[in-house]
Amino acid sequence: MLELTKIKGIGPKTAQLLAKLGITSSNHLLSYYPYRYNLIKRTDLSLSKQDDVVIIDGLVETIPSLFHFNKHMDKMSFQINTGTLLLKVVIYNRGFLKNKLLPSTMVTIFGKYDQLHNTIIANDLRLSKLSDQETVEPVYHTTYGIGNRQLKSYIDVALKSDWQVLDYIPNQLINKYQFMNKKTSIQAVHNPGDMNLLHDAQRRLKYEELFLFMLKINYLKTNNPDREGLPRIVDYQIINQFIKTLPFELTADQLTSIKAIYHDLVEPKRMNRMLQGDVGSGKTIVAIISLYVNFLGGYQGALMAPTDILANQHFNSITTIFKDYPIKIGLLTGKLKAKEKKDITTKIKEGQLDIIVGTHALISEEVIYHNLGLVITDEQHRFGVNQRSNFKNKGHLPDILYMSATPIPRTYALTLYGDMDVSNIISMPKGRKNIITSLKKSIDMKAILTMIYQELQLHHQVYVIAPLIEESDVIDLENITDLEGKMQKAFGKLYQIGVLHGQMDTVEKEQIMLKFKQNEINILISTTVVEVGVDVPNATLMVIFDAYRFGLSTIHQLRGRVGRSDLQSYCILISDKEAERLNILTTTNDGFKISEEDFRLRGSGDLFGVRQSGDMSFQLADIRTDFDLLLQAKIDSEVYLNSNDYQNNQDLMKLLINSNKLN
Ligand code: ADP
Ligand code: MG
Repeated sequence: MLELTKIKGIGPKTAQLLAKLGITSSNHLLSYYPYRYNLIKRTDLSLSKQDDVVIIDGLVETIPSLFHFNKHMDKMSFQINTGTLLLKVVIYNRGFLKNKLLPSTMVTIFGKYDQLHNTIIANDLRLSKLSDQETVEPVYHTTYGIGNRQLKSYIDVALKSDWQVLDYIPNQLINKYQFMNKKTSIQAVHNPGDMNLLHDAQRRLKYEELFLFMLKINYLKTNNPDREGLPRIVDYQIINQFIKTLPFELTADQLTSIKAIYHDLVEPKRMNRMLQGDVGSGKTIVAIISLYVNFLGGYQGALMAPTDILANQHFNSITTIFKDYPIKIGLLTGKLKAKEKKDITTKIKEGQLDIIVGTHALISEEVIYHNLGLVITDEQHRFGVNQRSNFKNKGHLPDILYMSATPIPRTYALTLYGDMDVSNIISMPKGRKNIITSLKKSIDMKAILTMIYQELQLHHQVYVIAPLIEESDVIDLENITDLEGKMQKAFGKLYQIGVLHGQMDTVEKEQIMLKFKQNEINILISTTVVEVGVDVPNATLMVIFDAYRFGLSTIHQLRGRVGRSDLQSYCILISDKEAERLNILTTTNDGFKISEEDFRLRGSGDLFGVRQSGDMSFQLADIRTDFDLLLQAKIDSEVYLNSNDYQNNQDLMKLLINSNKLN
């Protein structure tokens, strides 16, 4: 392997810049793929119109005139002769090239055609002739201090050196798809001759990424030694009895999920299950029953929520449901006083608690479990992948249940949850009405206030969500205060107004939530801290200010705070922009559809709040556009694993055995 600094032009300084791009070896250079390509082809100006983007070449006709202004800016203009035409060229900040632009020098100009003035306003200029064939030019992500052409020249040196690369695609699949050689493919993505060749090369490299990914997932699913489960003996009749005592009838999907989880828990295979269900679909009760099965099986259970508010709420629901049962329940959040914390952790360690509800604190260093059998993570998408679970336990590995209200587009489910079993709660509890969502502009404020007033008069409650300007608590607070002033002015005489935001401490937050729950607060003004999980069935209206600032899935989650009973509920989105994007929320309550749309518009980063980099880092493949290839790779990897051929493929085996464990 070629050392980076052996490449001409790469000194310690450049090496540092390259390191910023993640390039620390010549192998990295080879696999530093372009993120897009420019198609370079001489424009026929006789077919061009005013303001078209054009590429032409020609000979410099006149000595450039250079004009400096603004200290750091310059403007240069000269004429070129294309062989058929004389044209004026104007270009900014290329004054340093003036001395090279002698008459009769061949230049290529990239720019915008100002036909009226027979001029090209150039944004790039090269001292070379255009090729007569159309060429494809790679474009790389660069960093300040290294230009595209410079980076490309290093890559070319690396490509010309002596290098080898492992091809992980099994021969039968290479034959099946007639894939080109891997080395040739890598060469081609950096130096594509034409578009067809480039596509073939990309497809081959993408397929390999996706195939390996699916292979690992499928391998882990069946061969992971961590998947040995805990034995439990629990009679389902007891669970059935318990279900009969609930104040409502479970939906078919809730029951199916509970049965699946029950089977996972009693069977000696470790559970690794995702429970997906739209906001309000009733995941909590499924979690509670799972904890009950686990308790009857003789183990401790933990329920982890992303916020203090939610942890408190779960703690209260669980305590209420089990008030006549001999089950000891504890709450552990980061906000506890040192002594309280010590007390709880001791009880956890000594097995004096059966169910522990909490936040991240549940996985902190000092918490050691007596015999943890089940871990449930609520609103899983709020936790980074790396925090999936990190529970210190005595000897054995607990069963895992994740819950998420963000319906994941099918593409994502395959990759993100590929190693899990999935249960879906699709049907909503009986009697639920669709939330009626409308889109308003801020000039409609009078009508909006009227709607708020109408709901208040019916003794219903209202959420008002403050615009989130940036991830700055201070600025958000200003917004909230501002909004509170407005609401006080409009309703303060008749109704109670409460405020909830991220900077308040837990006790304050809890008090406010409690008051809202008990209808002592009628209007709750809040930032997105209410986004996840909060359950106040009497709230029937949500007003979201500056809705365009939020992703579609986030809004969908937010509005899930209303529509939690048989009362008709409403959501008003106030936005002076992006009405088109937000419109889908007014036409559907289907979280899956909305997440697909969000995914299409904004990509994955926003869907989960956290970039799932560890799990999802494909270099070339993009699961949005390469879904068909992903499906193909999935099927192929399953067939390949079943064939047992893989055990003779040493390179692949090494990769699989070293692949990450499930958690
Ligand atoms: P989510 O899936 O968003 O976490 P929750 O578990 O908080 O939803 O449930 C929303 C509300 O619906 C709660 O008030 C809960 O008690 C209630 N609920 C759950 N299941 C049913 C059901 N089968 N019938 C009626 N109400 C239900
Ligand atoms: Mg919930």
